[in-house]
Amino acid sequence: MKRILVTGGAGFIGSHLCEKLLDGGNDVICVDNYFTGSKDNIRHLLGNHNFELVRHDITAPYYAEVDEIYNLACPASPPYYQYNPIKTMKTSIYGAMNTLGLAKRVKAKILQASTSEVYGDPAVHPQVESYWGNVNPIGIRSCYDEGKRAAETLFMDYYRQNDVRIKIIRIFNTYGPRMNPNDGRVVSNFIVQALKGEDITIYGTGMQTRSFQYIDDLIEGMLRMMATGDDFIGPVNIGNPGEFTMLELAQKIIELTHSRSKIVFLPLPGDDPKQRQPNITLATERLGGWQPIVNLEEGLNRTIEYFKML
Ligand code: NAD
Ligand code: UDP
Ligand code: UDP
Repeated sequence: MKRILVTGGAGFIGSHLCEKLLDGGNDVICVDNYFTGSKDNIRHLLGNHNFELVRHDITAPYYAEVDEIYNLACPASPPYYQYNPIKTMKTSIYGAMNTLGLAKRVKAKILQASTSEVYGDPAVHPQVESYWGNVNPIGIRSCYDEGKRAAETLFMDYYRQNDVRIKIIRIFNTYGPRMNPNDGRVVSNFIVQALKGEDITIYGTGMQTRSFQYIDDLIEGMLRMMATGDDFIGPVNIGNPGEFTMLELAQKIIELTHSRSKIVFLPLPGDDPKQRQPNITLATERLGGWQPIVNLEEGLNRTIEYFKML
């Protein structure tokens, strides 16, 4: 049995990860300040003796004796990370520093949930890990993008300077049950709008693309990455290469929910990336043949069922 710390464990991804780690017979400490996460996401785990829930803000130091750390604490949806951009940057940077300090002290393995946002509005397509990205340092997305880039830098420097056992994964757009219905991200927005019969809000022309990964595929990739030897630190892309325009996504969701919602077009927010698709060759090679297995329609159906239940 391993003792594992998950920061941001009450969020969308974190709650699925905590659940999977407990299923694997581990002892899990979930640290969260509930900014975008919720106790509802992990309520079903509270009766498990191997699960511990701690209300704590990761910008402050945290002490525990653990074998592994998954650092997920950070709002991920643009409206939330832009709500208090200074706090977003603090969470990325102080959060990385404190969890790395902890990992260094107790010699734990530590995995950083980085993001495809480090590629910005990418000039290389699909995105490979060796691409340095095209990020605006002074725009409205910068608090998140540059915060996550700085966190990667800290991870690499703790590795080079202090021999900390790091892992960096770059997660591409992920969706599934337990996304907050008011989260503001595209998949949850469109499904909630379709189910309520409200207008589906496409920002811009809808010709921008994203590649959507179902949550279960991500969790499998994360666990495989943590299990790799100390010689593989990443960064490694974890995502589904299936690429769609936002217009195609809206049409698919209308079809699957049998909705009568109309599509409306709203202004595009600043610095919105035009395209996004992971090259997952490295993940497949280094993570034992890992590749996504849930296609968009199947994943959307499972997510629609969840939102109907709410
Ligand atoms: P989420 O907003 O549901 O989860 C983030 C969690 O972190 C929430 O529970 C929130 O309350 C917590 N948190 C935020 N600031 C904190 C702080 N200062 N101290 C303690 N806890 C704090 O988002 P998610 O989609 O589950 O994302 C989890 C991680 O994965 C984030 O780091 C995000 O950047 C990364 N990621 C997600 C995606 C995606 O598509 N979902 C893509 C790339 C990267
Ligand atoms: N830290 C932490 N928990 C620990 C060990 C360290 O939160 O178990 C914090 C510590 O307070 C510091 C940060 O992690 O702010 C970085 O720690 P490190 O040892 O690298 O730096 P130093 O303490 O020497 O500045
Ligand atoms: N988007 C949209 N309508 C919405 C929410 C988002 O058209 O109601 C667009 C958004 O402008 C972006 C894409 O969908 O082009 C993905 O947005 P999301 O916030 O989910 O992720 P990110 O932009 O961070 O990849």
